[in-house]
Amino acid sequence: MTRTAIVTGAARGIGAAIARRLASDGNSVGVLDLDEAHGAETVASIRDAGGRAIAVGANVADAAEVAAAVAKVESELGAPTILINNAGILRDNLLFKMTEDDWDAVLSVHLRGAFLMSRAVQAHQVAARWGRIVNLSSVSALGNRGQANYAAAKAGMQGLTKTLAIELGRFGVTANAIAPGFIVTDMTRSTAERLGVGFDELIAHSAEQIPVGRAGQPDDIAAAASFFCSEEAGFVSGQVLYVAGGPRA
Ligand code: NAP
Repeated sequence: MTRTAIVTGAARGIGAAIARRLASDGNSVGVLDLDEAHGAETVASIRDAGGRAIAVGANVADAAEVAAAVAKVESELGAPTILINNAGILRDNLLFKMTEDDWDAVLSVHLRGAFLMSRAVQAHQVAARWGRIVNLSSVSALGNRGQANYAAAKAGMQGLTKTLAIELGRFGVTANAIAPGFIVTDMTRSTAERLGVGFDELIAHSAEQIPVGRAGQPDDIAAAASFFCSEEAGFVSGQVLYVAGGPRA
């Protein structure tokens, strides 16, 4: 059965990999990112592989833009019943240097964004009596130096996930979270820049700490998302899956 998915922050990194994977699983995909033009590359790669996708521009933290984006996906691809809340930003700083803007920006994109997107998409899921929500948490939810804002947001994603699972389960909707460890993307590249180390050096250092002996790739996370969105995962809900090459990266 062809279903329609929305993946937020799908222009690059983990979101792009999840969008491509859900498309190859047979779903039509709304590739949502801040600017519609940013999603063009992901959409082209899905279409080149024979899949169906459109790019949609929206700031997930803006309720009106979220409503318009979900309506656009509904009219062009069909009612969305799969939602991946992946859009994210970093504003790392030690607590004593962290500004209110650093705090608000991170909480806003991750948590308010996931709340607004979930609230908009659940209407279609409840109507269809079927749905899948996957929220991107992080190993940082367990606490991470320089990331008070991000750790709070990523722990919040876990509480949101469990509550969505409880509220929406009766409508055939599951909600689960993936908590990635170190994944090679622009986000971790920016961390290397902030720390003043080369990206390759940071990847090698991280691999040494990871039990399976390598850094993660976006496709590692896409595989977990594919499982949570599958038909046969209908009895798996409210779970947090750490995809980190070990119990904790
Ligand atoms: P990334 O490469 O920085 O990509 C993030 C994407 O989100 C970008 O395309 C960005 O758009 C988009 N975005 C940012 N703010 C947005 C907004 N307000 N509305 C819509 N889209 C927005 O990040 P990533 O590494 O793939 O991470 C994806 C998710 O996994 C994030 O939630 C992150 O916290 C989580 N995660 C990542 C890692 C890791 O090691 N990489 C580990 C744990 C968890 P622009 O292109 O316009 O900037």
